[in-house]
Amino acid sequence: MKNISVLGSTGSIGKQTLEVVAANPDELRVRVLAAHKNYALLSEQIKTFEPDFAVLTDKEAAAELQKQYHGKTEILSGQEGLLAAATYEKTDTVLGAMVGYAGLRPILAAISAGKDIALANKETLVAAGHIVMKAVHDNNVNLLPVDSEHSAIFQSLRGGYHPCLTFTKKGRDASEVKRLILTASGGPFRGMTKAELAQVTLAQCLKHPNWNMGKKVTIDSSTLANKGLEVMEAHWLFNMPYEKIDVVVHPQSIVHSLVEFEDGAVLAQLGIPDMRLPIQYALSYPKRFNCSFGQLDLVQCGALTFEKPDTEAFPLLQIAINCGKAGGSLPCAFNAANEECVTAFIDGKISYPDIPAIVKGVIDSHALIPEPDLDEIEETDKEVRIRAKEIINSISKQ
Ligand code: NDP
Repeated sequence: MKNISVLGSTGSIGKQTLEVVAANPDELRVRVLAAHKNYALLSEQIKTFEPDFAVLTDKEAAAELQKQYHGKTEILSGQEGLLAAATYEKTDTVLGAMVGYAGLRPILAAISAGKDIALANKETLVAAGHIVMKAVHDNNVNLLPVDSEHSAIFQSLRGGYHPCLTFTKKGRDASEVKRLILTASGGPFRGMTKAELAQVTLAQCLKHPNWNMGKKVTIDSSTLANKGLEVMEAHWLFNMPYEKIDVVVHPQSIVHSLVEFEDGAVLAQLGIPDMRLPIQYALSYPKRFNCSFGQLDLVQCGALTFEKPDTEAFPLLQIAINCGKAGGSLPCAFNAANEECVTAFIDGKISYPDIPAIVKGVIDSHALIPEPDLDEIEETDKEVRIRAKEIINSISKQ
């Protein structure tokens, strides 16, 4: 029986994680649930999963939950509550499914407390990969990917590589790997020109062809910023230089990613596009549980196609990769600028093409810190957000 804390339990990944738990009651037990402010849903989840305690980081929402909920689960609030969820003594694995930079502190706290991590929250690795990976090694914990592409790479490495694994406790030697190939669906606007993209609306952005996800990652998927974040995530998880990570567009989202080995063999992991599968693998590792979430029917899938990403129409992919290659504080700056732009786009303050334009403007003016410590990462995140907001406000007033 694995005991888990679910950080971000009310989101898309959090809810699917709880479906995985419900499907495997003899294997998985929820010890803690944590979210930001959705007290109504958290209250339902508490009733179903009866965690030892639950957390809302928003104090008003936590007070509201306290008023409405009269069961025996203790309710905590604020960042202290989130850190308690991340470090709880009865938890073995912390599933990180918060959205954005907010995941960094609790994930670091969980690692320091010796917890294995099942990580969906890629922004944590993007913003501070060098700090997170050092903590993973210093504390000898497993860092298991939830992102479907990284889960596919992990599984392909396990399949093609001898027992020497990558980012788990057993080591990180990837010398027989020639390259990693991340697949991308291409999002809802694949094939559109820059001129056509200038007209797209929020509603169109939120209609992803293959995946049903939270707003931020759905918009990132449409701009290909998400794939850029994933390249950085892969760089850290698999200790792989950027030159050895490629991206290929695969609109059917059946081949979740691939690994090419030195001898030319290419191993891939295939499956239906359903996040419950990689979530379950991150929680069942090193075993596999029976799966009740559907089966891949290759005949029904039909043709599987692959094409080059259009980095002209979707510049954020290459901008992100360039930031990753430059390293230091630049990936953190990219992430902060992108998060602010996505929020502003959701709020109707900027247009779709403003997103890459503002991100580029902000990171071009960022003074790179080569090896930032955690305080410098925090500072970078804050400064970049202020700068991005200034530009956003000047645009939205026009
Ligand atoms: P959602 O927006 O659906 O959910 C976000 C979750 O985080 C909610 O539970 C939310 O709580 C909580 N949250 C938001 N802000 C904070 C905060 N400041 N402190 C603590 N908790 C917070 O996101 P997704 O589930 O889509 O994505 C989560 C992460 O997983 C992202 O990093 C994303 O890139 C990654 N991912 C998502 C995939 C997907 O299919 N959705 C696929 C692969 C990766 P509340 O509801 O109370 O606001």
